[in-house]
Amino acid sequence: MMPPGITDRVLVVEGDITRQRVDAIVNAANPSLLGGGGVDGAIHRAAGPELLGECRDLGGCNTGEAKITSGYRLPARFVIHTVGPVWKGGGAGEDTLLSSCYQNALALAELIGLRSIAFPAISTGAYGFPLERAARIAVCTIIGFLTYHPAIERVVLACHGNAAHTLYQDILGQEKTINTEYEMAQALFSHISMIEASHGIRIKNREAIARIIAPTIKSDTQALSVGISLNNWVAVAGAYGEVTVSESVIRTILDSLKSA
Ligand code: ADP
Repeated sequence: MMPPGITDRVLVVEGDITRQRVDAIVNAANPSLLGGGGVDGAIHRAAGPELLGECRDLGGCNTGEAKITSGYRLPARFVIHTVGPVWKGGGAGEDTLLSSCYQNALALAELIGLRSIAFPAISTGAYGFPLERAARIAVCTIIGFLTYHPAIERVVLACHGNAAHTLYQDILGQEKTINTEYEMAQALFSHISMIEASHGIRIKNREAIARIIAPTIKSDTQALSVGISLNNWVAVAGAYGEVTVSESVIRTILDSLKSA
C-alpha cells in the first residue's frame, strides 16, 4: 500500500471552523484567552459559556504558544488556543512566532494522542498578517511537522472566504510537486512498519531515523535499500522488544547508499 501523500493528510475546506468534525479545533486567541472577535468569538459562541470558565483558569497564553481546553458544545472534543503575532511590518519576528503557533498546536495535539486538527488562518484577521505570507508559513510548518509525525492523520485548513481557499489550494499544490523529503520519509516509515511487524519488534527512534535519512535520499529505490539494510541489521543484531537503532548504524547505512 502506498503511504498517504500530503494531500491525503492536509485538507483545505471553505467554511466555519466551529463546524469541523475533528479531534481539536485551533482558536486564534488573544493573550488573555478571555474571548474576542473573529474566530475567537465564533468558537466561544458555539462552545458555550463553559469554555470561558475553563479559559479563566489558564492564566493567559504567550504569543506563539498553545494551551488546550475541552470543546464543550462543539463537534470537536478539544480547543487548542494559540496566540498569533500582531503584524508590525514583518521585522519583529512575526514569521517565526506564527510558525510556532502551528508547531506548538500540533505538538500539543500529538502529545495527548489526537489524530485530527483544524486550523483557521491565524493572525490574518484583526492581527493584520498578510494572508499569502501567513498561508505559506502555515502550510510549510504543517507539512514539516507531518513529515516526521505520522500520528497526526489529518489537518484541516478552514478558510473563511474563497480567496483564502484558493490561495491555500495553490500553495499546497506547489508543495505536493516539490516535496521529495515528505515522500521519502513516508516510504521509510512504511518500510520500518514492515520490519517491526515481521520481527515483532518496535523501533523506538523511527522518527530520528527518518529525519537523518529522508533529506538525503531521492528515490523509492533508495528508500527500499535503506529498508533492506535496516532489516538486515535487525536480523543480524537479533534485536527484540523495543529497539533503538544507533546513530552509527544509521550513518553506516547512509554511507553504503552513497557508495552504491
Ligand atoms: P487574529 O486576531 O489572529 O487575526 P481573527 O479571528 O481576527 O484572528 O482572524 C483570523 C482568521 O480567521 C481570518 O482570516 C478570518 O477571516 C478567519 N475567521 C473568522 N471567523 C472564522 C470562522 N468562524 N471559521 C474559520 N475562520 C474564521
